Amino acid sequence: MAKRSEFQLIEEVFSTLGADRADVLLGVGDDAALVDTGGSELIALCVDTLTAGVHFPLDTPAAAVGYKALAVNLSDLAAMGARPQWALLALSMPEVDSAWLDGFRQGLHALALQHDVALIGGDTTRGALAASVTLVGLVERSAVLRRAGARPGDGIYVSGSLGDAAAGLYLLQNDQLLDQQSDSYLLERLQRPQPRVSLGQALRELASAAIDVSDGLLADLGHILDRSAVGAIVDLRQLPLSSALRQRFEIDQAAAFALHGGDDYELCLTIPAARETELAKISATLGVALTRIGTIDAKPGLRLLDQNGQLQQPSRQGYDHFARST
Ligand code: ADP
Ligand code: MG
Repeated sequence: MAKRSEFQLIEEVFSTLGADRADVLLGVGDDAALVDTGGSELIALCVDTLTAGVHFPLDTPAAAVGYKALAVNLSDLAAMGARPQWALLALSMPEVDSAWLDGFRQGLHALALQHDVALIGGDTTRGALAASVTLVGLVERSAVLRRAGARPGDGIYVSGSLGDAAAGLYLLQNDQLLDQQSDSYLLERLQRPQPRVSLGQALRELASAAIDVSDGLLADLGHILDRSAVGAIVDLRQLPLSSALRQRFEIDQAAAFALHGGDDYELCLTIPAARETELAKISATLGVALTRIGTIDAKPGLRLLDQNGQLQQPSRQGYDHFARST
């Protein structure tokens, strides 16, 4: 079999698998699927798996694994503007480790309570350590956020700051974590991302397109551009970089984490120019920074303005699970 990227795989193998049902409003290809059962709201569904050694280092605290297994799914529903409600958990473990399970449970439980999510089922098996959460939510049919919908002239915004988690992982993997505030902040951003659930809902009537940034800004903004059939120009000088990230890394390295690193779980959105002022209010109300990083344009492709304001072609994109396999 020819080598295929993660996204080619999904497109070619899974996107038309199974019956073609009329109640599927949105299938493979967005942050969550949308199903229309005729009620006043649509059902939004997503699933994400965390595998030990792939999505988290083996010695990650169990509570952080439990927390993150739900957080990454909350982030996908946030990107649709949906309200999370019910979760299913498939957990695979090499052996029963009670202390680990207690920690895992506590991390997942605390975040589930915070978002009023009930765990209503799942599956427990022996195998390599992996946690897969399926999350179901509801979203009003009138305004749903999607990856498609960005138009030339729209502003491109991101929430929070980018690159922190990738920097935290880098420090962890290279044994460079120091006992200082910046490093604990970066590690916390890796292990305890804040899914932007309220922000997603607040953006429903406003944003023309949205995605959560899980695989790196360039890759994920790239999905908005593909789905919307538009291009973009992004100004690297505008990237929201935390003071911890700036303090710990040179600007080029910090920007690289922001562009190519993964695990941010921030939202990237586009918004018509006439409505951009409304974002400031949302940002203030929710206490979440929203930073304009660029503009959508009609010319396909993504163009970057570097630290000197010069046009630069992106050399690589985000994380692809199969791109690096041999
Ligand atoms: P995200 O990063 O938002 O979780 P992914 O990149 O994992 O999204 O997936 C992109 C799209 O492909 C999503 O709509 C997802 O539901 C779909 N997808 C991924 N893997 C599969 C699969 N094995 N079968 C069906 N759909 C899949
Ligand atoms: Mg997503």
